[in-house]
Amino acid sequence: MNPITLKRYEETLMKRRHEILPVLRHLSSESRGASPAAIGNGGNCGEAFLTDRLAAVYERELDDIETALDRIRTGTFGYCRACHQPIEPPRLERFPRAEFCQRCK
Ligand SMILES: [Zn+2]
Repeated sequence: MNPITLKRYEETLMKRRHEILPVLRHLSSESRGASPAAIGNGGNCGEAFLTDRLAAVYERELDDIETALDRIRTGTFGYCRACHQPIEPPRLERFPRAEFCQRCK
């Protein structure tokens, strides 16, 4: 892949990581704060559960971003992990964390 395009994907991924990190930090402090209260009054249980679920979604995304950044560093970014063909550019454009092409996903 051309280095300029690669650099652009790297920047997109790092920007997204930068957005997620503070949210995740906030969510995990919320979740820790809410749990004892929820057990105490039986009230916020659903809310704490949602916070945990949301944190899990962001953690997963962060993992994918780290993997994609690693793939940029090792030169395997943009190639399907299964068939080793280049991932379709429109797919990569929409979803820079994609690890599989349209056919293998
Ligand atoms: Zn494939």
